Amino acid sequence: MRPKASDNIQDLQYFGEFGGVNPSISDSSTYTFISAKTMFDTFEGNTEGCYLYSRHSSPSNLYLGEALAALENKETANVYASGMGAITSVILQLCDSEDQIVSSRTIYGGTYAFMKNFLKKFNISTSFVDITKLDVVEQAITGKTKMIFCEAVSNPLLEVADIKGLAALAKKYNIPLVVDNTFSPLSIAAGKLGADIVIHSLTKFINGSSDCVAGVVCGSTDFCLSLKDVTNGAGMLLGSTLDSLRAASILKNLRTLHIRIKKHSENALYLSQNFEKDGLRVVYPGLKSHPGHQAFKNQMCADYGFGGLMTLDVGSLDKANMLMELMQEKNLGYLAVSLGFYKTLFSAPGTSTSSEIPLEEQKEMGLSDGLIRFSIGLDNDIHRTYETMKDCMNTLGILNKKAMSV
Ligand code: PLP
Repeated sequence: MRPKASDNIQDLQYFGEFGGVNPSISDSSTYTFISAKTMFDTFEGNTEGCYLYSRHSSPSNLYLGEALAALENKETANVYASGMGAITSVILQLCDSEDQIVSSRTIYGGTYAFMKNFLKKFNISTSFVDITKLDVVEQAITGKTKMIFCEAVSNPLLEVADIKGLAALAKKYNIPLVVDNTFSPLSIAAGKLGADIVIHSLTKFINGSSDCVAGVVCGSTDFCLSLKDVTNGAGMLLGSTLDSLRAASILKNLRTLHIRIKKHSENALYLSQNFEKDGLRVVYPGLKSHPGHQAFKNQMCADYGFGGLMTLDVGSLDKANMLMELMQEKNLGYLAVSLGFYKTLFSAPGTSTSSEIPLEEQKEMGLSDGLIRFSIGLDNDIHRTYETMKDCMNTLGILNKKAMSV
Protein backbone atom coordinates (compact mmCIF):
# COMPACT_ATOMS: atom_id res chain seq x y z
CA MET A 1 0.00 0.00 0.00
CA ARG A 2 1.27 3.47 -0.84
CA PRO A 3 2.13 5.81 2.03
CA LYS A 4 -0.57 8.36 2.80
CA ALA A 5 0.07 12.07 2.48
CA SER A 6 1.72 13.38 5.59
CA ASP A 7 -0.23 16.11 7.36
CA ASN A 8 2.60 16.96 9.73
CA ILE A 9 2.92 20.52 8.46
CA GLN A 10 -0.77 21.06 9.22
CA ASP A 11 -0.18 19.82 12.74
CA LEU A 12 2.66 22.17 13.63
CA GLN A 13 1.78 24.53 16.45
CA TYR A 14 4.16 27.02 18.00
CA PHE A 15 3.59 30.15 20.02
CA GLY A 16 5.96 32.98 20.69
CA GLU A 17 7.03 34.02 24.15
CA PHE A 18 4.31 36.71 24.29
CA GLY A 19 1.62 34.71 22.51
CA GLY A 20 2.94 35.58 19.08
CA VAL A 21 1.86 33.28 16.23
CA ASN A 22 5.53 32.73 15.40
CA PRO A 23 8.06 31.44 17.90
CA SER A 24 10.27 34.14 19.40
CA ILE A 25 13.73 34.24 17.88
CA SER A 26 16.60 33.46 20.22
CA ASP A 27 19.01 36.27 19.50
CA SER A 28 21.90 35.12 21.70
CA SER A 29 25.11 33.22 21.14
CA THR A 30 25.47 32.33 24.81
CA TYR A 31 23.20 31.61 27.81
CA THR A 32 23.46 32.30 31.52
CA PHE A 33 23.17 29.74 34.31
CA ILE A 34 22.05 30.41 37.86
CA SER A 35 24.20 27.61 39.18
CA ALA A 36 27.70 26.66 38.05
CA LYS A 37 26.83 23.01 38.64
CA THR A 38 24.05 23.17 36.00
CA MET A 39 26.53 24.66 33.54
CA PHE A 40 28.90 21.74 34.14
CA ASP A 41 26.05 19.23 33.75
CA THR A 42 25.02 20.85 30.50
CA PHE A 43 28.55 20.44 29.14
CA GLU A 44 28.26 16.77 30.05
CA GLY A 45 25.03 16.63 28.06
CA ASN A 46 22.85 15.88 31.10
CA THR A 47 20.55 18.86 31.46
CA GLU A 48 17.58 18.82 29.15
CA GLY A 49 16.07 22.16 28.24
CA CYS A 50 19.20 24.15 29.12
CA TYR A 51 21.07 26.08 26.48
CA LEU A 52 24.79 26.53 26.61
CA TYR A 53 26.11 28.13 23.47
CA SER A 54 24.40 28.52 20.10
CA ARG A 55 26.89 26.39 18.14
CA HIS A 56 25.65 23.54 20.33
CA SER A 57 21.93 24.37 20.15
CA SER A 58 19.53 27.28 20.29
CA PRO A 59 15.75 27.50 20.73
CA SER A 60 15.19 28.72 17.13
CA ASN A 61 17.27 25.89 15.69
CA LEU A 62 15.43 23.38 17.86
CA TYR A 63 12.03 24.62 16.65
CA LEU A 64 13.10 24.20 13.02
CA GLY A 65 14.68 20.83 13.78
CA GLU A 66 11.49 19.58 15.45
CA ALA A 67 9.37 20.60 12.46
CA LEU A 68 11.72 18.88 10.02
CA ALA A 69 11.88 15.74 12.17
CA ALA A 70 8.07 15.64 12.01
CA LEU A 71 8.22 16.06 8.22
CA GLU A 72 10.56 13.07 7.88
CA ASN A 73 8.98 10.98 10.67
CA LYS A 74 12.19 10.86 12.67
CA GLU A 75 12.71 11.30 16.41
CA THR A 76 14.65 14.53 16.09
CA ALA A 77 16.80 16.65 13.76
CA ASN A 78 19.81 18.98 13.81
CA VAL A 79 19.98 21.95 11.47
CA TYR A 80 23.18 23.11 9.78
CA ALA A 81 24.53 26.10 7.90
CA SER A 82 24.35 24.21 4.58
CA GLY A 83 23.36 20.89 3.04
CA MET A 84 27.07 20.08 2.72
CA GLY A 85 27.50 20.94 6.41
CA ALA A 86 24.85 18.30 7.18
CA ILE A 87 26.30 15.67 4.81
CA THR A 88 29.93 16.07 5.89
CA SER A 89 28.99 15.97 9.59
CA VAL A 90 27.08 12.70 9.14
CA ILE A 91 29.88 11.07 7.18
CA LEU A 92 32.62 12.09 9.59
CA GLN A 93 30.49 11.03 12.55
CA LEU A 94 29.88 7.56 11.14
CA CYS A 95 33.26 6.79 9.57
CA ASP A 96 36.71 6.35 11.06
CA SER A 97 40.00 6.03 9.25
CA GLU A 98 40.13 2.90 6.98
CA ASP A 99 36.32 2.66 6.83
CA GLN A 100 34.33 2.47 3.62
CA ILE A 101 31.12 3.99 2.25
CA VAL A 102 28.86 2.42 -0.36
CA SER A 103 27.32 5.27 -2.30
CA SER A 104 25.19 5.81 -5.35
CA ARG A 105 27.36 6.98 -8.23
CA THR A 106 24.83 9.60 -9.32
CA ILE A 107 24.79 12.15 -6.54
CA TYR A 108 25.31 15.91 -6.19
CA GLY A 109 28.82 16.86 -7.42
CA GLY A 110 29.85 18.36 -4.07
CA THR A 111 29.00 15.18 -2.16
CA TYR A 112 30.79 13.11 -4.80
CA ALA A 113 33.91 15.30 -4.57
CA PHE A 114 33.88 15.12 -0.76
CA MET A 115 33.70 11.32 -0.80
CA LYS A 116 36.11 10.76 -3.68
CA ASN A 117 38.75 13.41 -2.95
CA PHE A 118 38.47 14.96 0.48
CA LEU A 119 37.96 11.73 2.42
CA LYS A 120 41.34 10.49 1.15
CA LYS A 121 42.84 12.67 3.90
CA PHE A 122 41.17 10.35 6.41
CA ASN A 123 41.79 7.12 4.49
CA ILE A 124 38.05 6.65 4.08
CA SER A 125 37.15 5.10 0.71
CA THR A 126 33.90 5.07 -1.24
CA SER A 127 32.57 2.43 -3.62
CA PHE A 128 30.33 4.20 -6.12
CA VAL A 129 27.63 1.87 -7.44
CA ASP A 130 24.45 1.80 -9.50
CA ILE A 131 22.03 2.29 -6.60
CA THR A 132 19.06 0.97 -8.57
CA LYS A 133 20.64 -2.53 -8.58
CA LEU A 134 20.33 -3.99 -5.09
CA ASP A 135 22.57 -6.97 -5.91
CA VAL A 136 25.36 -4.60 -7.00
CA VAL A 137 24.94 -2.57 -3.80
CA GLU A 138 25.13 -5.74 -1.71
CA GLN A 139 28.28 -6.94 -3.48
CA ALA A 140 30.01 -3.66 -2.61
CA ILE A 141 29.39 -4.05 1.14
CA THR A 142 32.44 -5.23 3.11
CA GLY A 143 33.30 -5.64 6.78
CA LYS A 144 34.51 -2.01 6.73
CA THR A 145 31.32 -0.48 5.32
CA LYS A 146 29.86 2.10 7.69
CA MET A 147 26.92 3.40 5.65
CA ILE A 148 24.91 3.15 2.45
CA PHE A 149 24.40 6.62 0.97
CA CYS A 150 22.04 7.69 -1.79
CA GLU A 151 19.76 10.46 -2.95
CA ALA A 152 16.08 9.44 -3.07
CA VAL A 153 15.92 11.08 -6.50
CA SER A 154 19.40 11.70 -7.81
CA ASN A 155 21.06 14.90 -8.92
CA PRO A 156 21.12 15.40 -11.86
CA LEU A 157 20.03 12.16 -13.55
CA LEU A 158 16.82 11.71 -11.53
CA GLU A 159 17.48 8.05 -10.79
CA VAL A 160 15.04 6.73 -8.19
CA ALA A 161 16.33 4.73 -5.21
CA ASP A 162 14.33 1.82 -3.81
CA ILE A 163 14.49 3.02 -0.22
CA LYS A 164 12.65 0.03 1.28
CA GLY A 165 14.96 -2.40 -0.52
CA LEU A 166 18.07 -0.47 0.50
CA ALA A 167 16.84 -0.21 4.09
CA ALA A 168 16.40 -3.99 4.26
CA LEU A 169 19.92 -4.44 2.94
CA ALA A 170 21.33 -1.95 5.43
CA LYS A 171 19.53 -3.76 8.25
CA LYS A 172 20.90 -7.12 7.12
CA TYR A 173 24.47 -5.78 7.48
CA ASN A 174 23.69 -3.66 10.53
CA ILE A 175 24.73 -0.39 8.90
CA PRO A 176 22.69 2.81 8.53
CA LEU A 177 20.98 3.88 5.33
CA VAL A 178 21.58 7.60 4.78
CA VAL A 179 19.26 9.26 2.27
CA ASP A 180 19.61 12.77 0.87
CA ASN A 181 15.99 13.70 0.12
CA THR A 182 16.66 17.21 -1.19
CA PHE A 183 14.96 16.58 -4.57
CA SER A 184 11.79 14.99 -3.24
CA PRO A 185 10.54 16.42 0.08
CA LEU A 186 6.98 15.28 0.88
CA SER A 187 6.72 13.28 -2.38
CA ILE A 188 8.99 10.61 -0.90
CA ALA A 189 8.81 10.13 2.86
CA ALA A 190 12.31 8.69 3.11
CA GLY A 191 12.24 8.36 6.91
CA LYS A 192 8.95 6.45 6.88
CA LEU A 193 10.24 4.15 4.16
CA GLY A 194 13.15 3.01 6.31
CA ALA A 195 16.04 5.45 5.92
CA ASP A 196 17.86 5.69 9.24
CA ILE A 197 19.15 9.18 8.58
CA VAL A 198 17.52 11.67 6.23
CA ILE A 199 19.37 14.75 5.03
CA HIS A 200 18.06 17.78 3.15
CA SER A 201 19.71 20.80 1.68
CA LEU A 202 17.16 23.30 3.02
CA THR A 203 18.59 25.74 0.48
CA LYS A 204 16.29 24.16 -2.10
CA PHE A 205 12.56 23.29 -1.94
CA ILE A 206 12.13 23.39 1.83
CA ASN A 207 13.08 27.05 2.15
CA GLY A 208 11.95 27.71 -1.40
CA SER A 209 12.97 31.32 -1.80
CA SER A 210 16.64 31.05 -2.84
CA ASP A 211 17.69 33.50 -0.14
CA CYS A 212 19.78 31.28 2.12
CA VAL A 213 21.96 28.20 2.44
CA ALA A 214 21.04 25.61 5.10
CA GLY A 215 20.77 21.88 5.81
CA VAL A 216 19.29 19.31 8.17
CA VAL A 217 20.02 15.83 9.51
CA CYS A 218 16.93 13.94 10.71
CA GLY A 219 17.50 10.77 12.73
CA SER A 220 17.35 9.07 16.08
CA THR A 221 17.79 11.07 19.28
CA ASP A 222 20.99 9.15 20.04
CA PHE A 223 22.56 9.90 16.67
CA CYS A 224 21.60 13.59 16.67
CA LEU A 225 22.95 13.95 20.22
CA SER A 226 26.19 12.27 19.17
CA LEU A 227 26.60 14.92 16.44
CA LYS A 228 26.30 17.61 19.14
CA ASP A 229 28.66 15.99 21.62
CA VAL A 230 31.14 18.56 22.90
CA THR A 231 34.09 16.17 22.83
CA ASN A 232 33.38 14.06 19.74
CA GLY A 233 30.44 15.45 17.77
CA ALA A 234 31.18 16.27 14.12
CA GLY A 235 28.38 18.87 14.04
CA MET A 236 29.61 20.58 17.18
CA LEU A 237 33.31 20.43 16.31
CA LEU A 238 33.19 21.20 12.58
CA GLY A 239 30.93 24.09 13.49
CA SER A 240 28.58 24.52 10.52
CA THR A 241 25.82 25.86 12.76
CA LEU A 242 22.77 27.59 11.32
CA ASP A 243 22.09 31.12 12.50
CA SER A 244 18.94 31.54 14.63
CA LEU A 245 17.48 34.35 12.51
CA ARG A 246 17.75 32.19 9.42
CA ALA A 247 16.31 29.15 11.19
CA ALA A 248 13.25 31.26 12.09
CA SER A 249 12.73 32.41 8.51
CA ILE A 250 13.10 28.86 7.11
CA LEU A 251 10.48 27.64 9.59
CA LYS A 252 8.05 30.25 8.25
CA ASN A 253 8.70 29.21 4.64
CA LEU A 254 8.33 25.51 5.51
CA ARG A 255 4.63 26.07 6.21
CA THR A 256 3.82 26.48 2.51
CA LEU A 257 5.96 23.57 1.32
CA HIS A 258 2.99 21.28 0.65
CA ILE A 259 1.30 23.80 -1.62
CA ARG A 260 4.51 24.61 -3.47
CA ILE A 261 5.50 20.98 -4.04
CA LYS A 262 2.07 20.20 -5.53
CA LYS A 263 2.43 23.08 -8.00
CA HIS A 264 6.08 22.32 -8.88
CA SER A 265 5.04 18.72 -9.59
CA GLU A 266 1.95 19.65 -11.59
CA ASN A 267 3.93 22.04 -13.80
CA ALA A 268 6.86 19.64 -14.31
CA LEU A 269 4.48 16.82 -15.27
CA TYR A 270 2.66 19.06 -17.77
CA LEU A 271 5.87 20.19 -19.48
CA SER A 272 7.49 16.75 -19.53
CA GLN A 273 4.41 15.06 -20.99
CA ASN A 274 4.15 17.65 -23.73
CA PHE A 275 7.86 17.68 -24.54
CA GLU A 276 7.84 13.90 -24.74
CA LYS A 277 4.96 14.08 -27.24
CA ASP A 278 7.04 16.59 -29.21
CA GLY A 279 9.79 13.97 -29.54
CA LEU A 280 12.29 15.59 -27.17
CA ARG A 281 14.60 13.55 -24.94
CA VAL A 282 12.97 14.38 -21.65
CA VAL A 283 13.56 12.66 -18.32
CA TYR A 284 10.97 13.02 -15.55
CA PRO A 285 10.07 10.34 -12.97
CA GLY A 286 6.38 10.99 -13.61
CA LEU A 287 6.67 9.70 -17.19
CA LYS A 288 5.99 6.01 -17.82
CA SER A 289 9.14 5.98 -19.96
CA HIS A 290 11.31 6.79 -16.92
CA PRO A 291 13.14 3.64 -15.70
CA GLY A 292 12.37 4.58 -12.09
CA HIS A 293 8.70 5.48 -12.67
CA GLN A 294 7.31 2.38 -10.97
CA ALA A 295 9.80 2.61 -8.08
CA PHE A 296 8.73 6.23 -7.50
CA LYS A 297 5.04 5.30 -7.70
CA ASN A 298 5.48 2.45 -5.22
CA GLN A 299 6.93 4.73 -2.56
CA MET A 300 5.39 8.15 -3.23
CA CYS A 301 2.85 10.16 -1.27
CA ALA A 302 0.63 10.57 -4.31
CA ASP A 303 -0.79 13.98 -3.32
CA TYR A 304 2.55 15.64 -3.94
CA GLY A 305 3.34 14.24 -7.38
CA PHE A 306 6.70 13.36 -8.88
CA GLY A 307 8.57 16.55 -7.94
CA GLY A 308 9.77 19.63 -9.74
CA LEU A 309 12.95 18.38 -11.43
CA MET A 310 13.11 17.48 -15.12
CA THR A 311 15.97 17.14 -17.63
CA LEU A 312 16.09 17.69 -21.38
CA ASP A 313 18.90 16.52 -23.61
CA VAL A 314 19.21 18.93 -26.53
CA GLY A 315 22.16 17.18 -28.18
CA SER A 316 25.18 19.39 -27.47
CA LEU A 317 26.57 21.82 -24.91
CA ASP A 318 26.46 24.67 -27.45
CA LYS A 319 22.75 24.10 -28.06
CA ALA A 320 22.10 23.79 -24.34
CA ASN A 321 23.88 27.08 -23.67
CA MET A 322 22.05 28.90 -26.49
CA LEU A 323 18.70 27.59 -25.32
CA MET A 324 19.30 28.56 -21.70
CA GLU A 325 20.37 32.09 -22.67
CA LEU A 326 17.31 32.50 -24.90
CA MET A 327 14.92 31.17 -22.27
CA GLN A 328 16.31 33.63 -19.76
CA GLU A 329 15.91 36.47 -22.28
CA LYS A 330 12.23 35.45 -22.70
CA ASN A 331 11.79 35.52 -18.92
CA LEU A 332 11.02 31.80 -18.71
CA GLY A 333 13.38 31.43 -15.79
CA TYR A 334 16.97 32.01 -14.75
CA LEU A 335 20.21 30.45 -15.94
CA ALA A 336 21.26 29.54 -12.43
CA VAL A 337 22.18 26.49 -10.38
CA SER A 338 20.08 25.34 -7.40
CA LEU A 339 16.41 24.41 -7.28
CA GLY A 340 13.09 24.86 -5.59
CA PHE A 341 12.59 28.54 -6.47
CA TYR A 342 9.28 30.10 -7.61
CA LYS A 343 10.95 30.82 -10.97
CA THR A 344 12.21 28.01 -13.17
CA LEU A 345 15.99 27.55 -12.82
CA PHE A 346 18.08 25.83 -15.47
CA SER A 347 21.72 24.84 -15.82
CA ALA A 348 23.88 22.32 -17.68
CA PRO A 349 25.05 20.02 -14.88
CA GLY A 350 28.10 18.66 -16.77
CA THR A 351 29.71 22.11 -16.65
CA SER A 352 28.21 23.29 -13.35
CA THR A 353 26.78 21.31 -10.43
CA SER A 354 28.40 18.02 -11.52
CA SER A 355 31.63 19.46 -12.93
CA GLU A 356 33.50 17.90 -9.98
CA ILE A 357 32.84 14.52 -11.62
CA PRO A 358 35.55 13.70 -14.21
CA LEU A 359 34.34 13.68 -17.83
CA GLU A 360 34.86 9.92 -18.37
CA GLU A 361 32.80 9.19 -15.26
CA GLN A 362 30.07 11.61 -16.36
CA LYS A 363 29.87 9.69 -19.63
CA GLU A 364 29.78 6.33 -17.89
CA MET A 365 26.85 7.38 -15.70
CA GLY A 366 24.95 8.79 -18.68
CA LEU A 367 25.49 12.50 -18.01
CA SER A 368 25.71 13.91 -21.52
CA ASP A 369 26.94 17.30 -22.74
CA GLY A 370 23.60 18.55 -23.97
CA LEU A 371 21.72 17.79 -20.75
CA ILE A 372 19.86 20.70 -19.16
CA ARG A 373 18.50 20.31 -15.62
CA PHE A 374 15.30 22.23 -14.96
CA SER A 375 13.83 23.04 -11.59
CA ILE A 376 10.34 23.92 -12.75
CA GLY A 377 8.83 26.97 -11.10
CA LEU A 378 5.39 27.85 -9.79
CA ASP A 379 4.13 29.43 -13.05
CA ASN A 380 0.42 30.04 -12.94
CA ASP A 381 0.01 29.67 -16.71
CA ILE A 382 2.15 26.65 -17.52
CA HIS A 383 0.62 26.26 -20.98
CA ARG A 384 1.95 29.69 -21.94
CA THR A 385 5.35 28.66 -20.54
CA TYR A 386 5.26 25.51 -22.66
CA GLU A 387 4.42 27.46 -25.83
CA THR A 388 7.17 30.02 -25.21
CA MET A 389 9.74 27.28 -24.46
CA LYS A 390 8.73 25.56 -27.68
CA ASP A 391 9.18 28.82 -29.61
CA CYS A 392 12.72 29.08 -28.20
CA MET A 393 13.48 25.53 -29.28
CA ASN A 394 12.05 26.13 -32.75
CA THR A 395 14.17 29.27 -33.12
CA LEU A 396 17.29 27.22 -32.36
CA GLY A 397 16.26 24.22 -34.48
CA ILE A 398 16.08 21.97 -31.43
CA LEU A 399 12.61 20.64 -32.13
CA ASN A 400 13.83 19.57 -35.53
CA LYS A 401 14.66 15.87 -34.99
CA LYS A 402 17.66 15.95 -37.34
CA ALA A 403 19.24 18.71 -35.30
CA MET A 404 18.64 16.70 -32.13
CA SER A 405 20.64 13.73 -33.31
CA VAL A 406 23.86 15.80 -33.65
N1 PLP B 1 22.32 17.55 -1.83
C1 PLP B 1 21.84 17.79 -3.05
C2 PLP B 1 21.00 16.75 -3.70
C3 PLP B 1 22.12 18.99 -3.69
O1 PLP B 1 21.63 19.22 -4.91
C4 PLP B 1 22.94 19.95 -3.02
C5 PLP B 1 23.28 21.25 -3.66
O2 PLP B 1 23.03 21.49 -4.81
C6 PLP B 1 23.42 19.64 -1.76
C7 PLP B 1 23.08 18.44 -1.17
C8 PLP B 1 24.29 20.62 -1.00
O3 PLP B 1 23.50 21.58 -0.40
P1 PLP B 1 24.03 23.04 0.03
O4 PLP B 1 24.33 23.77 -1.24
O5 PLP B 1 22.91 23.60 0.81
O6 PLP B 1 25.27 22.84 0.82
